[in-house]
Formats: sequence, structure tokens, C-alpha cells
Amino acid sequence: MHPDSEDLWFLPLGGTGEIGMNLNLYGHAGRWLMVDCGVTFAKEGQAGPHVQMADPEFIVQRRDDLEALLVTHAHEDHVGAVAHLWPRLGCRVITSGFTAAILTRKLAEVGLAGQVPIEVMESGARSLLGPFDVQWLRLTHSIPEAHALMIRTAAGKVLHTGDWKLDPDPVVGDATVASAFEALAEEGVDAMVCDSTNAMVAGHSTSEAELLPGLTRVVGEARGRVVVTAFGSNIARLHTLAQVALATGRHMSVLGRSLHNMVAAAREACLWHPVRDLVPARELGYLPREEILVVATGSQGDPGAALDRLARGSHPDLELETGDRVVFSSRVIPGNEDGLNRLLRRLEQQRVEVVTAEDALIHASGHPCQDELRTLYRWVRPKTAVPVHGEPPHLAAHAVVAREAGVPLQLLGRNGDLFLLAPVAGVRRGLVGCGRLGLTGNRLERVAGRMAEDERASTKVSE
Ligand SMILES: [Zn+2]
Ligand SMILES: [Zn+2]
Repeated sequence: MHPDSEDLWFLPLGGTGEIGMNLNLYGHAGRWLMVDCGVTFAKEGQAGPHVQMADPEFIVQRRDDLEALLVTHAHEDHVGAVAHLWPRLGCRVITSGFTAAILTRKLAEVGLAGQVPIEVMESGARSLLGPFDVQWLRLTHSIPEAHALMIRTAAGKVLHTGDWKLDPDPVVGDATVASAFEALAEEGVDAMVCDSTNAMVAGHSTSEAELLPGLTRVVGEARGRVVVTAFGSNIARLHTLAQVALATGRHMSVLGRSLHNMVAAAREACLWHPVRDLVPARELGYLPREEILVVATGSQGDPGAALDRLARGSHPDLELETGDRVVFSSRVIPGNEDGLNRLLRRLEQQRVEVVTAEDALIHASGHPCQDELRTLYRWVRPKTAVPVHGEPPHLAAHAVVAREAGVPLQLLGRNGDLFLLAPVAGVRRGLVGCGRLGLTGNRLERVAGRMAEDERASTKVSE
């Protein structure tokens, strides 16, 4: 398999036909670009270790032809496998300042500090990587500094959106500028490879800024301590909560290693400017309970996370009592229901009040709903839509939206399929084996290869 100078290929090894462990390749003129390198977490009852990632064997065998790894943003499903797979790839890594700050920490954790050449790109920057001319275009998402990549080659042009939403008021960072994407349509885009997570949801996603009133109300009504749990990487949510703390006369503190890492990375990337800074967790014991607002990790019921320890009464810095309130500014990721229910039962036993996103407008998704997909397709006007970042039903729903938005061709497929983007669009099914690697300690091992085959057999994908 060798793309020649007439070809522009897209080859997903992870993240297409599933949500998680994104690993995408673009091929042209004998060279390859990798976009994202993430992990997924095995659900209860699934085979293999908890942390899993796409098997990169195909590109490892061609590592001399790999120009670079580009990381669109710092979510685990996009950056989480870099520290584990980079030793097999040995390539340049290019990303944003915030993502670089997160990645640098992850590399240090596995003993690779200072060994990986990470280059930081500014939004709007454009550079040549072998035969690929790559431009970084800022989009809003539920984490700072998410980027779409416009990849131009002599054979064709593709916009890889990464994860995104159109948030008119993202709290941290700027709203998306339509003109930057409309300009792409002027020069002509062969294909748009795009996020399908919320393609089955009508309407428009909620803006981060819309959460302030709901969060202010649920915190303001509380009489005791308030613990809010949210996805730690959502720096905008942390800013909103800092504002809520100020408005409700509380001091904010964060509990949990991943939250501390995120705040530190945000500081490094100059993205941390709440009105009043955080109170160290060890000082919480000296504050009156009605003056405490804690943000804690563990919104999915994760064992050992800060919220789990609070629910068990085993956290060294804070103890919950009857009448304290836990606010879930999050959603349940499918597969985590059992763990979360166990956590909720523990909180109930402690007579702690629980507020979830079903009770108030306190969570916003980071992915585009159907109206936003239509808008981006109308801005970019690609010839071909390639739905990714979704399970087969999400991809199929996305294809319908793309067709309605006037995109002439939609290509549906899954990991291991070769998408021909130019000169003639099409899909070659199952050209590349796409297994998974599981992480046990620091060791990577193949996860039962049959699982991927079984999934393929049970999933109907149509064009
Ligand atoms: Zn993602
Ligand atoms: Zn994301």
C-alpha cells in the first residue's frame, strides 16, 4: 500500500465506528501524516486491560515515511496514547501550547521527559510537512485550543475537523470565525473528515456561558459544603465555577490529580485567569462549610477518584456531612452507569443532596449537534463528507445531515478501511488489520484480535 503523487488517502486505525482511541493517517506521494493518537477505556465486561489504544503496526512498519504526528487537542481519546506509542513511531509531534503542556506531563510520567520533539503551533499557522501543507484552524470544544487541520496536497485538499462545537461564548478562548472556514470553500475542499458524536441530536449544543445561571442557582441554594464534579479538562467550566464561588460567597478548591494537572497546564498556556485564585485543599478544614466550593474528579464514579473517596469518607482534606451537596456538571459516559450508581448510593447513605444535569442546565456537550454540522458544511462546502468519531448509527445519521446540507457524496466506513479522497472518491473495505493494544503497568499487549472481527461482523455499515 503506497499512495502515489496523484492520491490523497485517509486511513483511520482507531476512532471510526467507535468513540475513543482516535488514530488517523493521511497518505500522499509516498508519505504519511498521523492525526491524533488517543486511548479508550474498556467498559465493564469487555476484554482486555482498562486502558486500550489502536494498534499502530501499519504505520510502525512505514515509520520512515511518517512526516509527523499532529494532535488536534488534549482529550484522552486524542492524546492519551502518544506517551505509550511514540517510542515505536519516533516522529515529530506538533500541537498547540495547551496540548503540549498536557502531553509533556504525560511523557514525564512514563520516563520520556525531554526525549520527544514537540513543536507548538499557533492558531492560523501554516507549514509544510513533506508533501503536506498543513494549516491549524481554531474551533471551540470542551477543552482549550482545539484545532481543525486543513491539509493541502498536490492531489487534493481535506479538512480534518477534530472535535468541535460552535460555541458563541466559550468563556475561555474565542468563538469560531465563519470567514476562516468560508475562505476554504473559495479555494475548494475535496473532503471534510468530521466529528459525529452528536449527529443524532437535533438543534444546537449549549454554550458554556449559558451554564452560569444554573450553576449559580444550584450552588446558591445549598446550605452546606458544595462539591461539583466535572470533566477536569474543561477549563472554561472551572472559570465559570470560580465565578459562581465568588457570587455565592464561597472559596473554590480543586481535588484530584488530573484536575491539578489541568490547572497547571492552563497556567502554563496562559489560559488561567479566574477572578479569585484557588484555595489549597489542606486549608478547607479551617473554612465554615457554607463557604466551601470544591471541584472534584470522578464524575463517572471512577474508583479512587476524589469524589469516590469523599463518598467513602476517606478523603484526607474534606469530609461530607448530611446536608452537603454534590453537583454533577457532567454526563454519564455509556458503560459507566454501574460505577456511577454505586457512587450515588454511597452519597445517599451519607444523606448528601445530589443535583445532576437532569435537574438544571449545568452541563454542555463539546460536540456539534445537527444544526452546527449543517452550518460547518455550508461554510466549507466539501465535495465529500467522511463522518468519523462515532459508532455506526452516529456515522449514518451524520451522513444524512451532510447530504441535506448539500454535500454531494458521503463515505461511510470504519477502522481499517481505506478512504480514497482524491482523485476519485471511494472506500476500500478492510484493507488494514486494526487490532487494539492494552496497557498493563507499562507493558503493551495485543487485546484479543477476535474481538475486532466479531465487532465487524455485528456492525452493518452502508454507504
Ligand atoms: Zn474525541
Ligand atoms: Zn475532544
